[in-house]
Amino acid sequence: MKLTFLGTGTSTGVPFIGCDCEVCTSADPRDNRLRVSVLIEHADKKILVDTSADFRQQALRHKIRRLDAVLITHCHVDHIFGMDDLRALNFRHGAIGIYADELAWTDLRRVFQYVFKPTHIGGGLPQLIPHTIETGAKFCFGENLEVTPLQVIHGKLPVVAYRFNDFAYATDLNFIPSETMENLLDLDVLVIDCVRFKPHSTHFGLAESLEHIEKLKPKRAFLTHLNHEFLYERDSKILPDNVQLAYDGLILTD
Ligand SMILES: [Zn+2]
Ligand SMILES: [Zn+2]
Ligand SMILES: [Zn+2]
Repeated sequence: MKLTFLGTGTSTGVPFIGCDCEVCTSADPRDNRLRVSVLIEHADKKILVDTSADFRQQALRHKIRRLDAVLITHCHVDHIFGMDDLRALNFRHGAIGIYADELAWTDLRRVFQYVFKPTHIGGGLPQLIPHTIETGAKFCFGENLEVTPLQVIHGKLPVVAYRFNDFAYATDLNFIPSETMENLLDLDVLVIDCVRFKPHSTHFGLAESLEHIEKLKPKRAFLTHLNHEFLYERDSKILPDNVQLAYDGLILTD
């Protein structure tokens, strides 16, 4: 298993437009955060989680030439607005399967109405094959990559977290139902939401992220969806040994 952090920033990205704070002006590339997304690679499969608003830049940076599937967590702009840029991969390799729950599909079909209800012929529309997933219902890519969609709560919105064998990716949440907690045990890697130091109405703040890591006891945990309060070098020192701030370009392998 290989997980590449394509983006680790909150919805605004970091730097934040117009901000001159220590993090937004930092020369450390680990303080520059594109909108959140990860690439999962296992055997010959390449799975993208969310087509972030920065997907084009992320695909160029990481030389993504082919994807076997795209999994969607939820339909906030930072997570889906790069979807049209899948066209570049379609032109070379054909249609791509998009996996999302019913709730997300309702929004995807509305936001990308021109794709799913084409009103014009031609013009290079994205070629997307819709697959509807249900939380709790496992499925596989190839023989060895088992994917478990899990429900987490983001304000009032149910959002999908994903477990890939012994890795899990859980962003945009401020509550984890007990059934999902049980499905997040015995992990090698847990990537978890942590938008800022203080609590937030739709995301975990640092104390809540650490508290859940402590309960779930993954071998390693990585914080993502970070805003411009986290200065990588300084704040890495305050975290427990098995917890790190994620940064764009960080690659994890099992
Ligand atoms: Zn988000
Ligand atoms: Zn700032
Ligand atoms: Zn969100």
